[in-house]
Amino acid sequence: MMTPSNSPMQPLATRSPRPRSPEPPPSAERTPTTDLLSDVRELLGGVQASLWDATDPNVAPVLLECVSADTVPPELDEKSVGLIMWAAHQKAGEMCTDGEWVSFAAAPLPSQNATRHVLAVAAPERMELQLPREQLRKWLPRLARRLATLRSLLEAQATASQGERNADLLLLTATQLQDQRSIGDLGASLCTAAAHMMGTKRVALVRWNPARTSGEVAYSIRGHIVPTGSVVTPESQVGAACVGDYPVLIADARDRTRGFIVFGGDEAQHALGALAIIPLRGMEGVIGALVMESEAPIPITPTIAKNLRLLGVMATHALETVWEIEEINQRARTDPLTGLANRQQFEERLSRIVMETDRFGGSSTLVIIDIDRFKQVNDTYGHQTGDDVLKKVAALLQEGVRNVDLCARYGGEEMALLLPQTDLVGGCQLAERLRSAVGDRPFVIGGREISVTISLGVATYPEGARDRDELFSAADKALYGAKRAGRNQVATGGL
Ligand code: GH3
Ligand code: MG
Ligand code: MG
Repeated sequence: MMTPSNSPMQPLATRSPRPRSPEPPPSAERTPTTDLLSDVRELLGGVQASLWDATDPNVAPVLLECVSADTVPPELDEKSVGLIMWAAHQKAGEMCTDGEWVSFAAAPLPSQNATRHVLAVAAPERMELQLPREQLRKWLPRLARRLATLRSLLEAQATASQGERNADLLLLTATQLQDQRSIGDLGASLCTAAAHMMGTKRVALVRWNPARTSGEVAYSIRGHIVPTGSVVTPESQVGAACVGDYPVLIADARDRTRGFIVFGGDEAQHALGALAIIPLRGMEGVIGALVMESEAPIPITPTIAKNLRLLGVMATHALETVWEIEEINQRARTDPLTGLANRQQFEERLSRIVMETDRFGGSSTLVIIDIDRFKQVNDTYGHQTGDDVLKKVAALLQEGVRNVDLCARYGGEEMALLLPQTDLVGGCQLAERLRSAVGDRPFVIGGREISVTISLGVATYPEGARDRDELFSAADKALYGAKRAGRNQVATGGL
């Protein structure tokens, strides 16, 4: 994520007196908040992530905690002090800007009282490193919110009376959430915590898409009647709670009517005693819900309700991060025009498929595809129509393969299929089917009929090649052979 910038760094102002050090100085001990600061540093490619108390507008900010590549706490120049103060008192996520890359950024922690804490990331001048402004704009306020939640939980725990049940559990969950990068782990922690709080085993985490007004079960505790991936419809109880952004707390749901559907889709009929739905409200609307059910009624006390709500807030922050990272990763592996896997994903999978074939035996097949005389399509109908043809061909290929196969666009109008556990005969049959799917009838684009054909080269590992590179060149040579033999055909290659 760290990219050295070509843009000149803005000269920093002369260094002001060092800010007051806290008493005692920041300890090196790992706490939930230092873990989160480490995350901030890692995520944003910063060299230092620090937390400042800027409550008093008349004195320099006080360093509360810092995670840094250096052993020394950060030194602030006048401009940075100004930005921290500005962020704290204008409540604006202000940044020191010098074009697309920035050297210092600060965002305030949301606060219910007079306290003004500020999260800052710095890329020190001497490291010649700068931070991507767009990433900061998106992430820094979000991370500041997470930090604020975590700190208020820590405070709540410190002041909680003996009778406050579940405070420890909440804190434990909050700490665990910091470490979890995958939706599986995160879902497990959240659902387990919710299960303990409510005293039931039937808990599910729903991911809601406000734009499409539909959702799906992102995680459910084992044995739950709704498996991961189940559809959530807008008419269901969970869907309605997500659309309307309201919690549902039904201690005794036994007298529910026939049309009472919790998730939707083809949900099986089941006994329902109690139901709690906590919508997860992110920055851009409801992003999901925690859903707790039980067979028998459960007295949902105000404490249980409050804890579930708090869990929901923590869940939202963590999920926004994880889902967003998943999307970013997915985008980085997908070709934007066709939606197929991109070259990077293709290369990775090609290596993997060869390794897996060595390990598990059998054969795997690679098919390389090139559109025939595609330059003519561009020349005749224009590049935009060319793009549309490319998309249609890609869609036909994708439709024609199994879920375990990978369909990739690895070059301009060159595509490839990786078919695990498929021999040469099977690969050729599929290739032939795809050739005729593309070539047998014209595409209709902008009211015009456009006919294209494809040529395909097929090679199999290990029969036709000794390693991944040979597999690729065998399929490539076969494709060349198909072109030479007149195009619109399948050819095989290999040892
Ligand atoms: P053949 O493969 O049958 O030998 O002939 P061809 O005309 O397809 O030749 P070649 O594969 O060498 O050229 C591919 C052409 O595809 C060149 C380029 O203009 C076009 N092309 C590559 N990528 C894209 C794209 O993303 N969109 C469009 N519209 N055209 C592309
Ligand atoms: Mg071509
Ligand atoms: Mg080509």
